[in-house]
Amino acid sequence: MTDQPKCPYMTTADGAPIARQHALTAGPRGPVLMQDVALLEQMQHFNRERIPERVVHAKGSGAYGTFTVTHDITKYTKADMFSEVGKKTDLFLRFSTVAGERGAADAERDVRGFAVKFYTNEGNWDLVGNNTPVFFIRDPYKFANFIHTQKRDPKTNLRNNDMQWDFWSQCPESLHQVTILFSDRGLPASYRHINGYGSHTYSFINNDNQRVWCKFHFKTNQGIENWMDDRGAETIGQDRESHQRDLFNAIEKGDFPSWSVKVQIMTQEQADEHQWNPFDLTKVWPHADFPLHEVGQMELNKNPENYHAEVEQAAFKPSNFVPGIGPSPDKVLQARLMSYADTHLHRLGVNHHQIPVNAPRCPVMHTMRDGQGATAENYGGATNYWPSTRPDAVNPDEKFHDPAWDLGNSIVDRYDSAVDHDDYTQPGNLYRMFDEGQRDRLTTRIAGVLGDAREEIQMLQLCHFFRADPDYGQRIATKLGIDVSKMMPGATHDQQPVDATRNT
Ligand code: NDP
Repeated sequence: MTDQPKCPYMTTADGAPIARQHALTAGPRGPVLMQDVALLEQMQHFNRERIPERVVHAKGSGAYGTFTVTHDITKYTKADMFSEVGKKTDLFLRFSTVAGERGAADAERDVRGFAVKFYTNEGNWDLVGNNTPVFFIRDPYKFANFIHTQKRDPKTNLRNNDMQWDFWSQCPESLHQVTILFSDRGLPASYRHINGYGSHTYSFINNDNQRVWCKFHFKTNQGIENWMDDRGAETIGQDRESHQRDLFNAIEKGDFPSWSVKVQIMTQEQADEHQWNPFDLTKVWPHADFPLHEVGQMELNKNPENYHAEVEQAAFKPSNFVPGIGPSPDKVLQARLMSYADTHLHRLGVNHHQIPVNAPRCPVMHTMRDGQGATAENYGGATNYWPSTRPDAVNPDEKFHDPAWDLGNSIVDRYDSAVDHDDYTQPGNLYRMFDEGQRDRLTTRIAGVLGDAREEIQMLQLCHFFRADPDYGQRIATKLGIDVSKMMPGATHDQQPVDATRNT
């Protein structure tokens, strides 16, 4: 709204001035006329004001802020936002409770969500963590099941301790997180007084393409503050929005909350020898063995202008990685890489990354187009397919390729499916099965449409036909009016046209 001129009078959504906000009726007592389109529009929009709430972390508070690098960690990561001490990166952070619905009270005993979106120069990096360093489960199959036990009983619509403890008692891997949940930290005084943890193990990759494992910690500079249960119950009786109020008012009066951002680092050799699985979400890395290294300071310093647009529509996804930061084998993380992005497709639509709070602040170009809610630009006339020889087409850049990942019995990498593949013998065999009439009709049809393509494309495609069968290529060339021997002196049966068409 900020770049629109201020409107001096009320309008419809399409900008037509409205003279009166009184229903258009046949006489003062009605009935109302269908032609009161402004009234219909208002009621229709009202019916659609709510979007699906998040299944978990439905109640939340958010704010914008800044991350400043204080210590050099470039030996661990090439991530642009960590590239030099003093570098600042804008961010948006959303805190939340986990189990309660959108209108639930803030001061409840629960884990708190701690999701940060860093608007880096090489894309948005989302760290979607909690105020606890561990979680209740280590197998993603248990995720939806666990959340069901935290929500309402399907018959009574009440929270049900029997469900919760039924699950926990059968899943001893939950004990670590249960202990934290029922410790004093399970009822924080406010969002400003909690730590944040990335919880999962992630990977850092440096400029030499060396990978180490890492965990992220955000230590509150306000100090940890918790409430006893009676204080929480008393607060909820008076104010269901105590965390939202505290955070909003603190930022509004310039009392900006901040966190010291730290990382733990583990090499593959250390991971191999570690007493626990370092990718197990129910375990911490002991501080004594893996000390915290300070990286920077994070400050929240600006409230959103509009809660729905900026907080309710904020879309965090662990799959938002940037060069230098990547996943680990953690099974729950691997499942979340799909699940969070999928949620946003459901709640906000396929173009949720075009909503301003989610939009990257760096240049963006890809070949995904259209869909509901596309903005007017919709990438204009830019080429929407790949590979392409068009001058405006963008290509992947090999410099961002992550190192291969050796899992012992296999190596994870992005393998080019064209390497070691024969794309010509079988089409050639098929062609050679055709009788004279079939060959003639086939090559006539192809020449009819290939003739519309640019000449350089015709030449590249002819190479493929030649490699399948020289007769196949020669017939099409003739029908296109191309003298192959003159225009493509090297075009023999052995030519490698695949390399010429590939844009990597
Ligand atoms: P340390 O003695 O080095 O660490 C103890 C840590 O416990 C503190 O640094 C603090 O973490 C955290 N802590 C204190 N009170 C609570 C609480 N009520 N709920 C959750 N955490 C609390 O020992 P270890 O590193 O070996 O960790 C021992 C236990 O501490 C772990 O099993 C875990 O439950 C908890 N913890 C460990 C963390 C880690 O990364 N190693 C992080 C957080 C908790 P902080 O400084 O982050 O506030």
